Amino acid sequence: MPMTTEMLEPDPQGYARAVALLSQGNLVAFPTETVYGLGGDACNDVAVARIFDAKGRPRFNPLIVHVPSIEEAKSLVHWSDAADILASAFWPGPLTLVLPLKEGHGLSPLVTAELESLAIRLPANPVAQTLLRAFGGPVAAPSANPSGKISPTTAAHVAQGLDGRIAGILDGGACDVGLESTIIGLTDTPTLLRPGGLPAEAAAHALGAPLAAHIGDGTLTAPGQMASHYAPGAAMRLNAEERRSGEVLLGFGAVECDLNLSAAGDLVEAAAALFGHLHKLDNSGAQIIAVSPIPETGLGLAINDRLRRAAAPR
Ligand code: AMP
Ligand code: MG
Repeated sequence: MPMTTEMLEPDPQGYARAVALLSQGNLVAFPTETVYGLGGDACNDVAVARIFDAKGRPRFNPLIVHVPSIEEAKSLVHWSDAADILASAFWPGPLTLVLPLKEGHGLSPLVTAELESLAIRLPANPVAQTLLRAFGGPVAAPSANPSGKISPTTAAHVAQGLDGRIAGILDGGACDVGLESTIIGLTDTPTLLRPGGLPAEAAAHALGAPLAAHIGDGTLTAPGQMASHYAPGAAMRLNAEERRSGEVLLGFGAVECDLNLSAAGDLVEAAAALFGHLHKLDNSGAQIIAVSPIPETGLGLAINDRLRRAAAPR
């Protein structure tokens, strides 16, 4: 359903409106020094589901969470000496660190795509910083463009791609770097996961050792790695029209079931509930989780991708 996208100025009124929208689970694009981010409350399942919906992402890949301070980062992830060195040298700035998640972090499971690590960043752009401080909580923000399109470096680019699909755009002018953040994994040996705005050599120099190269497609979302996170203990039966004996049914739409992703058949609501419901049914000791058919449109693509991985032989 198209909505009116509000253009917000970086003045007290604009920040207040942006914070109100974020607090209600709506999406606000905002400038960072790298590219414009599509921000949503990282603790709100529906807000995070809306990010995937607005971008038309066919898969739930993990998102970078933006925080206004190192203290806030430390409340979400296990800090380390390497994190300290890199954050002291390059935060705020175009550097994302991947660190082990802390217990009780409170983030939506959609943010990390169920990984036990979190990609986190403290951006330098003053508009981003003011917004994050005013909001007072972690903000999930991938680049503010439709999936597969070029990353936006002005508010006008964001509007071109996402007008009518997001609640607001905070116009902070053009981004300085225009390249995505450099991502360094610190869950193990420091590893370059994605080259970006901060030269990898600078990070290596600060650490006093070269970064390991990431083997794969530049992300940690390589299918094998995700598959293990995505496997419930129960067997899965997809496109189930009914509940057979010995099964629990994860429903969608107007069906009699054990848990419903969305009785109204709303894909955003379903995506928001997906990980939590799967865990609940799996923890209930069910042997087989049957799942109602989910339409292969919009967020249904990402939901079905997730379900097929869960159902894959292992
Ligand atoms: P984007 O959403 O376009 O800003 O890209 C986010 C990037 O961060 C992707 O390459 C993700 O694979 C990567 N990423 C996010 N969270 C994690 C994580 N927990 N571990 C490894 N990589 C991550
Ligand atoms: Mg992107």
